[in-house]
Amino acid sequence: MMEALLAGGAGLSVSDGIRWRRKAASYEFSLNVRNNLGRRLVLFGQQCDKKLHAATFALHCTESTVGNLFRLCVRGRHTNRRSDGVQHHGTHLHRWTSEHRDEQAVAPFDPPWPPSPWQDDSQAPLSDDHLRLLFQQFCQMMHVTCDPDEIWRPKPSIEIPEFLKLPDGEEIP
Ligand SMILES: [Zn+2]
Repeated sequence: MMEALLAGGAGLSVSDGIRWRRKAASYEFSLNVRNNLGRRLVLFGQQCDKKLHAATFALHCTESTVGNLFRLCVRGRHTNRRSDGVQHHGTHLHRWTSEHRDEQAVAPFDPPWPPSPWQDDSQAPLSDDHLRLLFQQFCQMMHVTCDPDEIWRPKPSIEIPEFLKLPDGEEIP
């Protein structure tokens, strides 16, 4: 399966509109990915509230023995503790292997992708335009056919409460 995915021969495509789901400390979405391998694949995206400069996109196989096939950690840090010990101080790509599942990371693919917000190590928050560009680039990397104009939806902004509520119900501005 990995060879077919890397070679772009898996006929991957997504067409549903993105629906961001609120989680405890993040926003996430997942899209069904059509393919000619007969596998159950989804394209997953996530941004944690406390890491607005970073994001994660993954091509995931929902069959229980597999999991993430490819996972792009944008501005993430990672050490391959169980294999070659290589450290990544910035964006890296996890690639599934039978031995290490998705625990092993490599540098993102050639060819060099156009200048984009994931090639620096900034702590500045990613804008919606950045997230959309990253989604588009991840689709290109994974040979996923999609029309971002049709399916991209901005991530809802995080609601920051204006008042701090005490246990007795009193609100402090
Ligand atoms: Zn990572």
